[in-house]
Amino acid sequence: GGGWDSNYLADDPEYDDELRPKRLSEVVGQRQVVERLEVFLDATRKRNEPLGHLLLDGPPGLGKTTLASVLPRELGTELQITSGPALSAPKDLLPYLTNASHGSFLFIDEIHRMPATVEEFIYPAMEDFRVDITLGEGLNARTVNMKLQKFTVIGATTRSGMLTAPLRDRFIRREHLDFYEDTDLVEIVRRNARKLKTPITDEAAFEIARRSRGTPRKANNLLRWARDFATSKADGNITDDIVKRAFDMLEIDQIGLERQDRRYLETLIKTFSGGPAGVQALGHSLNIPADTLEDEVEPFLLRSGFIQRSPRGRIVTMAALEHLKLNPPDAGPL
Ligand code: ADP
Repeated sequence: GGGWDSNYLADDPEYDDELRPKRLSEVVGQRQVVERLEVFLDATRKRNEPLGHLLLDGPPGLGKTTLASVLPRELGTELQITSGPALSAPKDLLPYLTNASHGSFLFIDEIHRMPATVEEFIYPAMEDFRVDITLGEGLNARTVNMKLQKFTVIGATTRSGMLTAPLRDRFIRREHLDFYEDTDLVEIVRRNARKLKTPITDEAAFEIARRSRGTPRKANNLLRWARDFATSKADGNITDDIVKRAFDMLEIDQIGLERQDRRYLETLIKTFSGGPAGVQALGHSLNIPADTLEDEVEPFLLRSGFIQRSPRGRIVTMAALEHLKLNPPDAGPL
């Protein structure tokens, strides 16, 4: 998944790697999903077959890439990684398919952004482990049929609703990742502080978890920030006081709202009289792509009960006004 956090918090793949769970046993939370995957893996192992194609969906930073990298490791097989936007034509996908060894995995991130031509090309690859390649043009064109090794596609998407039905149906298993409980996030923060060899108090771990918007990636980013703050301004220990000062500096409030969340809510309230406002119009006003709003801003605001969706657009709630300590807009629908 992507991210448009302030520069400091931007995803750094190298950073991300060192904290990423390597085995299924290190994956925190998502108990039901993990239990089902264990059964799926176990059956595959016992039958000595490749794993069936698996679709993972859910908001960014919840562990889709993590699971996709853990599963092949559990089975001791290879993993290739690509993404929907990187596959602009079938020829971009072909090398991955021909390189795929028996039982290996191909992870396609943002699979909903694969163009239709690539999607049609992948159907026979997923279903019958073959591809149809057209050689030559016009009257000389002929189709060559190529057999592939039996491999596993793991697709990840933030928008399972945007997947076409034929593509969705080619996945044997589909798992939805949901936002994490605070207790899981506390556990992730504690473990990762240990990995980073940084002492942290229980309250500080909780304060980080509480601001992490149910998202492990956020928890890791905030932990790193708190650690830098502690190193720069104190003795390197992450305490309650350090965490509060560190987040004041980032303009992240007690429940994890960031400046862009507050701008979203304030625009909805002031420019659109509290709504309903369409996401396109909001995007224009905020100068942020509507897709980004839908993927990365709105899920948390919806979950926090600060906005509601209606057929005519987004509406701000009383809870949001109370949190921002604002009065209801005069002409608003509240
Ligand atoms: P996605 O692919 O859904 O955007 P990632 O798998 O890249 O999310 O997760 C982002 C980071 O969050 C990972 O690098 C990892 O450190 C952490 N993370 C995600 N899920 C978990 C989990 N269940 N347990 C522990 N850490 C996790």
